[in-house]
Amino acid sequence: MLSQGKSMPRVNGAGSLAGARVKKKFDLIVIGGGSGGLAHAQRAAEHGADVAVIENGPLGGTCVNLGCVPKKVMWYSASHAHSARLAADYGFDLTVNGHDWSALKQRRDAYVARLNDIYQKNLDKRNIELIRGTGHFVNKNSIRVESDDYRADNILIATGGRPIMPRIHGAEMGISSDGFFELPDRPERVVLVGSGYIAVELSGIFNALGSDTTVLVRKDGVLRSFDQMLRDEQHKAMQRDGIQLETGVVPHALERTSAGLKLIAEDGREFGAFDSIVWAVGRAPNTEHLQLEAAGVQADGYGFVPVDDYQATNVDNISALGDVTGREALTPVAIAAGRRLADRLYGGMADRHLEYRFIPTVVFAHPPIGTVGKTEAEARAEFGDDVRVYESRFTPMLYALGKHKEPSAMKLVTIGPEEKIVGCHVVGDGADEMMQGFAVAIRMGATKKDFDDTVAIHPTSAEEFVTMR
Ligand SMILES: Cc1cc2nc3c(=O)[nH]c(=O)nc-3n(C[C@H](O)[C@H](O)[C@H](O)COP(=O)(O)OP(=O)(O)OC[C@H]3O[C@@H](n4cnc5c(N)ncnc54)[C@H](O)[C@@H]3O)c2cc1C
Repeated sequence: MLSQGKSMPRVNGAGSLAGARVKKKFDLIVIGGGSGGLAHAQRAAEHGADVAVIENGPLGGTCVNLGCVPKKVMWYSASHAHSARLAADYGFDLTVNGHDWSALKQRRDAYVARLNDIYQKNLDKRNIELIRGTGHFVNKNSIRVESDDYRADNILIATGGRPIMPRIHGAEMGISSDGFFELPDRPERVVLVGSGYIAVELSGIFNALGSDTTVLVRKDGVLRSFDQMLRDEQHKAMQRDGIQLETGVVPHALERTSAGLKLIAEDGREFGAFDSIVWAVGRAPNTEHLQLEAAGVQADGYGFVPVDDYQATNVDNISALGDVTGREALTPVAIAAGRRLADRLYGGMADRHLEYRFIPTVVFAHPPIGTVGKTEAEARAEFGDDVRVYESRFTPMLYALGKHKEPSAMKLVTIGPEEKIVGCHVVGDGADEMMQGFAVAIRMGATKKDFDDTVAIHPTSAEEFVTMR
């Protein structure tokens, strides 16, 4: 059984197994073979638990099949388009004769299929049973898949999420990020609706690979939860690259015309025609088929399963993690939570749990964004005049030889007389690979003086972080 979590109210679920066949009993059943579920299952098995994973799609979940991995492949492709622009500055006589989206897709899909195989082998190696199908609760110890019931002492809900489609006339003529990965060819004219990192990333890919790209956002700009400096610089970078960014657009309907798809806003403005429309307007948790009520598991009004700091739900033997909990929806968060939970439940590490603070993240835009900790606005709201901010804006040496320039910007947010760093933000080339190391230092409590006392690596962009005044 799970050790008691710290804050959730608990109930003991009960239910009936009438009519179904109890096929097997495990120590642990994991519902969902994505980032978090597989990490938990594998670590639990390494600690000696008898584990089953229930999965109704390809192994690896969103990240491997419809998220981080195929997205990063596309980002790399777009990055080559950006590099090609600089080739002449560096002495190359280069002509780009086009881009074969469908050939790229084939290679990308083959890579993802290889990863699916590796995930299967990882389960086999640890004697984890993979049950194919959609699982739902029968009671707090039983999960039904088709007509078979499986019992376990502990159950993990790791069912992730899926893209939301807006409820407006014609919405079904658009696609979601899932549909993006199915596109057989590049649309000539594309519009993305949304302001989050998925809209930003996919628009950058389309644009770099040659699509006429528009982004429509509901409020005043993209990446609303990010530091204002990052938002402003990203906005400028998108416009510099030729992405049309329209703010204050609330979609009302989508119509098909002879010229293509047209989006009509609530205020009467019309946008289009487009060949493809991508909705990037949020994600919903995969809980609607789980029959949580059969086990007594509480969900919130959106269907997310709330958990305490130990990933415990309100039912004593049922945990949840990853996107389905509504907390930071990132692969490494789901993996870290899964491994720590297994260490606690099966590895004898009584207090092991994930601390949800200083979680670094990257937006794979062009140029990329790296960020960890508090935005300046968050810090000022919490610490007032105790906040001191350091900023730097510069053009990386990469752009020294030619006319095309992509500026970088950096910010350190510090608090108190010792200037403890609580926020670190960068937009610019290399930001994606820069942030991991800084996140370690900041998590350890680094101050501005620690940064100042660190010798720079020259010539790099990252050195600006240790030379700011
Ligand atoms: C376009 C896109 C780009 C992203 N890029 C990044 C990135 O660059 N970096 C990053 O860190 N994160 C990224 N993410 C987020 C990341 O993919 C998720 O945070 C991560 O996959 C969450 O893992 P999870 O284990 O919670 O859920 P998932 O990986 O979604 O796994 C859930 C699994 O459960 C299965 N399932 C659901 N219900 C049932 C059921 N009833 N029975 C059986 N199986 C079921 C699903 O088929 C799925 O395989 C991206 C997401 C998207 C959509």
